Amino acid sequence: MTQSPPASSEPAASVVPPVVLDAANLSFAQLPLAPSTLANLQQLGYLQMTPIQAASLPLALAGHDLIAQAKTGSGKTAAFALSLLAKLNPRRFAVQALVLCPTRELADQVTQEIRRLARGEDNIKVLTLCGGSTMRPQISSLEHGAHVVVGTPGRIMDHLQRESLDLSALDTLVLDEADRMLDMGFFDDIVFVAKACPKARQTLLFSATYPEGIGKLSQQFLRQPQRITLPEQHEAGKIRQRFYEVDSAQRLSAVGLLLKHYRPVSTLAFCNTRQQCRDLLQLLRAEGFVALALHGELEQRERDQVLIQFANRSCSVLVATDVAARGLDIDQLEAVINVDVTPDTEIHVHRIGRTGRVDQAGWAFSLVSGNQMARVDNIEKALGHEIEWHLLSELQASPGQRQPPLMPPMVTLLILGGRKEKIRPGDVLGALTGEAGFSKEQVGKINVTDTSTYVAVARGIAREALRKLSAGSIKGKKVKVHLLQDGAG
Ligand code: ADP
Ligand code: MG
Repeated sequence: MTQSPPASSEPAASVVPPVVLDAANLSFAQLPLAPSTLANLQQLGYLQMTPIQAASLPLALAGHDLIAQAKTGSGKTAAFALSLLAKLNPRRFAVQALVLCPTRELADQVTQEIRRLARGEDNIKVLTLCGGSTMRPQISSLEHGAHVVVGTPGRIMDHLQRESLDLSALDTLVLDEADRMLDMGFFDDIVFVAKACPKARQTLLFSATYPEGIGKLSQQFLRQPQRITLPEQHEAGKIRQRFYEVDSAQRLSAVGLLLKHYRPVSTLAFCNTRQQCRDLLQLLRAEGFVALALHGELEQRERDQVLIQFANRSCSVLVATDVAARGLDIDQLEAVINVDVTPDTEIHVHRIGRTGRVDQAGWAFSLVSGNQMARVDNIEKALGHEIEWHLLSELQASPGQRQPPLMPPMVTLLILGGRKEKIRPGDVLGALTGEAGFSKEQVGKINVTDTSTYVAVARGIAREALRKLSAGSIKGKKVKVHLLQDGAG
């Protein structure tokens, strides 16, 4: 098997040699950052730089343009946020930095992270501008002035065309999750926005993977970018990979067998096509699993609901395509299943890297048909060691032992009312642990959006919690509460 040749459209970028990572050069203190910023990092518990931060911050703070590639969850946000904040003049009321993100959800996350990192300085205004919200409030927020704008390319372009956004004082342009923005067809919008920025500026491009389009983008408007690539190195032993040979008739039902055998609490199942996602979802639900799917056709609100239910552990399996799952960051994921092993080794490594985070071990299962063996050869080469083959027949539960069905530990309750009603997570926790009499341990994650609140409660108390919340009040007001149905009926 031959390795795929290197992409031909490499930009004229110098590749930075990998930094030697020891405790001394991972300290934030060696960077030219203000003492107040360093103190704030300590308070946030950012005691050391992550590898991508160690590789990119010295260059970014020195003013270089960057193309930085590292996997999801590696700390890319702080890498660009600290650079743009270091240059910011809080006394100058003008947009000095713009961050483009693929989705509203990611833009919200980035905004929050920039705000946290800017706490050391007073009065730095960060504004989010995304589609799906009405223009008028955004326009008036812009009139009040912002130092940093975070937004999606389409909406930023809208504001530029209406002249409600002025980028003439911009110092830093950031393209976050550039690969995903390209997947979503934002190439032309990004070019439009970049052209509206002053020529003398710094441009920082961050991406989890390096598709061809990135080279094209960077050639157009990055200046002698330094290119940083952190090879994905999963800590040995943290991700246990097993490969199973299947024929096409067995492929989807094998997913059910894996779930019943290994019983992971949360599993991300990757499909290569949307049709396969639909088929798998239907089959898993028919077998009694609590499963949801993430695909491009979902509205933002539906997508939020799916992600919230998966992250709060009230859904066992999330079925997704690579595009839909890009940028997804979930801290507890016991297993990844490659329903179809991908032909792209880089994508394979990226997919399985979502499990085995922090200090837990994770499973990565791949289902491979006879005609896909070449894909496994490439993966084996990239890993540098032989992979483990296992037999589906090992998974058949022995007839004597009947296991209870695999159920997620939590159930999500949806409260109609959110930030607009001034509901905060503490109010919901208080309602459940106060009058309703539940213990803190029976309440899981609480997510408050503009108009809704999602609270995860232990499966065993779901009905009772629903009844008590509906009968009681939050912030002195009665609320409507629903149980989110998750396909298990
Ligand atoms: P990426 O954009 O690469 O997917 P994020 O920027 O979202 O990753 O960071 C992932 C998580 O790591 C976030 O919760 C962030 O707060 C945390 N984080 C980032 N940098 C550090 C650090 N130096 N020390 C500790 N935690 C960090
Ligand atoms: Mg990110």
